[in-house]
Amino acid sequence: MKEYTGYTAHFGKSDKGKTILIPWFTDFLSPFIPAIAELAGYRFVNCPRTSKTSAEIGLRYGNNEVCYPATLVLGDLLAELQSGKYDLDNAAVAITQTGGQCRATNYLAMIKQGLKNAGFEKIPTIAVTLGSGAIQNEQEGFKLPILKIFNIGINALLFGDMLNQMFASAVVREKTKGNSQQLFDFYMKQGVEIILQNKPEKFLELLKNTVSDFNKIDFFEDKKIEKIGLLGEIFVKYNSYGQAHITDWLRARNMEVVVPPIFDFFIQSFVNQEVNAQNGISRISRFTKMLMPLLLKFLEKRVGKFDKIFENYRFYEKNESIFAKAKYASEILDLSNQFGEGWLIAGEVASFARRNINRVICVQPFGCIANHVVAKGIERRLKQFYPKMNLLYLDIDGGMAEVNLHNRLHFLIKE
Ligand code: SF4
Repeated sequence: MKEYTGYTAHFGKSDKGKTILIPWFTDFLSPFIPAIAELAGYRFVNCPRTSKTSAEIGLRYGNNEVCYPATLVLGDLLAELQSGKYDLDNAAVAITQTGGQCRATNYLAMIKQGLKNAGFEKIPTIAVTLGSGAIQNEQEGFKLPILKIFNIGINALLFGDMLNQMFASAVVREKTKGNSQQLFDFYMKQGVEIILQNKPEKFLELLKNTVSDFNKIDFFEDKKIEKIGLLGEIFVKYNSYGQAHITDWLRARNMEVVVPPIFDFFIQSFVNQEVNAQNGISRISRFTKMLMPLLLKFLEKRVGKFDKIFENYRFYEKNESIFAKAKYASEILDLSNQFGEGWLIAGEVASFARRNINRVICVQPFGCIANHVVAKGIERRLKQFYPKMNLLYLDIDGGMAEVNLHNRLHFLIKE
């Protein structure tokens, strides 16, 4: 590994028209991102789904002490740049930057070193952030017009979560293999069209049609299906390769894999801000104090509208509010534990237990100190509160033996 000696390619104003590659995240959200970016005036292109090649290339050119998602993200980007499909003088790469306490805030330095190691040091990098701007990155040519994309982005997110939930419950019960996947793909494409038209209201109509079509699937009525919760680090939880395809493995054994909505990850900041202000960790400005309740009201109203339609789905189950999850979590740990998935892990385990889902897998990537500390740290206390809960912590990385992973899963589903 060469020593990092600075990175001079910046995304300037003249780079606005460049093709911006982004790593694949998850099937129910990634296809929407280029469409949202197009509204914002940028040409984003998704890398293909994360694969073994991503892991190998990420390890070859990256720093192998970073967390596993960082390796995969770097590998996705480098594999695409090496594919020969792009005019490298007109290409850039982008990743999200959380701005929080996890390493994702500092991925960019590692990505730049990886780009340099692979000979792509002329490729500008972008940090996509919803907060107060990029950290440690010069990108004067990139600015997200939040007001323009906020409404459509929220609607797309809610729709994606609900579509994913319908798919997860339908795919294990369908009589004709492939029905649910067909509907999933069709409605994702419809979602992209709505985004490009920038018509958020149309998502409600789309959800109505989606629910109606999923209800029409011919299901096995007497098949014994058990639910299993899957939570943990955001990337490995929602990215099929990142989680070593354990969802497929479980589905093949008649388990319905239930994941918490990704929407919760974003709106936890309503809880976090309040907690941090109370604990003297950060201040809330007067403007934010005024804005937050309005924003919350808007979001709650929107969720209510989506939920009213979603209730008509045959296997509908209500998702508890982020405030309910925070309350359950506060019985287990202090809510200032906000690194990685932080207190969300406790809140989601509790929420699963209250829905009588007592087998839960918590996936944790190699090198993710944040999630290991929180998740392992609360294990005993969770067991005291929820004695029936059977929790399996799975460490995920590129070098793990599949047979070990499946062995552990076998024990969980047989108990
Ligand atoms: S939560 Fe953990 S695995 Fe995910 S980006 Fe942060 S440090 Fe890496």
